[in-house]
Amino acid sequence: MRIVADQHVCVGSGMCALTAPEYFDQDEEDGRVVLLADEAEDCDTEVREAVLLCPSGALRLA
Ligand code: SF4
Repeated sequence: MRIVADQHVCVGSGMCALTAPEYFDQDEEDGRVVLLADEAEDCDTEVREAVLLCPSGALRLA
């Protein structure tokens, strides 16, 4: 599955980077999400949890 992150919607909470650090990091200046990988296995529960926990709805799976 593909991981999609909308930096314009991201509020820089950091939940994604804490939950799935292999896939998500934060910009050093504004804290917005930086995708480290844009593909994940369908069974990857960390990525799914990160998407669910994002408070702004900036993340989705396609
Ligand atoms: S959890 Fe959502 S709002 Fe927080 S840094 Fe990640 S993408 Fe941005």
